[in-house]
Amino acid sequence: MTHAATAGRRRLLTTTAAFACVALTCVSFGLGGWQPASAGSTSTSTSTSTSTSTIAPGPPKTEALIVARAATVTKPAKRLRQSGLMMFPMDPEPTCTVLDNFGDARGSGRRHQGIDILATLGQQVFAVADGTLTIRYVDGASDAQLSGNAWTLTLPDKTYYFYAHLSRFADGLSVGSTVSKGQLIGYVGDTGDPGPGNYHLHFEVHPGGGSAVNGLPLLEVPTSCIVY
Ligand SMILES: [Zn+2]
Repeated sequence: MTHAATAGRRRLLTTTAAFACVALTCVSFGLGGWQPASAGSTSTSTSTSTSTSTIAPGPPKTEALIVARAATVTKPAKRLRQSGLMMFPMDPEPTCTVLDNFGDARGSGRRHQGIDILATLGQQVFAVADGTLTIRYVDGASDAQLSGNAWTLTLPDKTYYFYAHLSRFADGLSVGSTVSKGQLIGYVGDTGDPGPGNYHLHFEVHPGGGSAVNGLPLLEVPTSCIVY
């Protein structure tokens, strides 16, 4: 039933898959991992063309699948290294993509002072610690041209966090309000300089009230978030 040419091509595919495996992930998976546990596959010394053509279509596909998954697991591993003490400032549902873009160049010699967390309109934004809302920027005001609607949350040690581009503020909060860790303080939006529809939370961390630092290594990023 099987043509010799077809069997030969499948052997070539198998060989190609093996090379791909060697290049990418053989250390973790091994070549033998995908072999079916049938009697035909274990007697490899004198496999006929029939047994090769029966087995060959399976392993390359499985191998390709494993390699594809292996390529994506670097992101969760990166997230694990980023686990820290600070709670994540935003509800990760339904969308959460964290950009590792602290310090990126911006116009006029500016540097990006925070990280951006891409989301959808209205996702909840939380206080990451117990503190006081000390500054509120309102979209449209001259001092809020870049930030749009924004909060500054200040802790007793003067550390402060800056949340920008909110669509709106949580009800009942004003400058001077004390908030607790995890409390809803606003909602993701695109106010300020992001541009229409570019919904994200811009989040800054200023330890001791000083210069901004990269908040990403300090945050406990939910596993459902993608980190770039
Ligand atoms: Zn930003």
